[in-house]
Amino acid sequence: MKIGVLALQGDFCLHLKRLRELEVEAVAVKKPEELADCQGLIIPGGESTTLVKLLKNIGLYELLPEFNRRWPIFGTCAGAILVSREVSNHPVEPLNLIDISIERNSYGRQIDSFDETVEVHLNGSIKTVEGVFIRAPRITRVGENVQALATHNGDVVMVENDAVLAATFHPELTENRLIHQYFADKVRKRI
Ligand code: GLN
Repeated sequence: MKIGVLALQGDFCLHLKRLRELEVEAVAVKKPEELADCQGLIIPGGESTTLVKLLKNIGLYELLPEFNRRWPIFGTCAGAILVSREVSNHPVEPLNLIDISIERNSYGRQIDSFDETVEVHLNGSIKTVEGVFIRAPRITRVGENVQALATHNGDVVMVENDAVLAATFHPELTENRLIHQYFADKVRKRI
């Protein structure tokens, strides 16, 4: 099993590190050929508007829906914006891979970024993890075939469907590997 981490901007190195700590083979993806032999992909945080432009420039944007028909994608923060169906407050063109609506920069500016406990429901058990929210988006609607997996102050902050996991926070910034483990298991089940 090989999981790619989109390496166009953001802290992709930390996602690679977390996966490798779990002994998962992880590679940086900067072009279509590198995606071709991955069975899963993480889209890290960054700036969603820039990410869309960069993905289009290198010809990866159009390939992601096709890739996702076969293999899981995990979007964190700006990555969660990219996989959503609708961005309610900004003309970002999302990939529509999971039926959620999302609002960009919903908690305010950089200075309003925060680090707080998130309650996560995984495989029938409830755990708490530290959630780092950096100019984070907010999920404003969760569609029918989407499960809410984590909440913070009444907001849904992590969701999934069959082939997509999306979190509005940055699990790679803490040493807790629970969420990367969950994604790696999601990928493994597909193989
Ligand atoms: N504010 C960024 C955006 O809207 C997301 C921030 C992040 O990924 N940490 O694209």
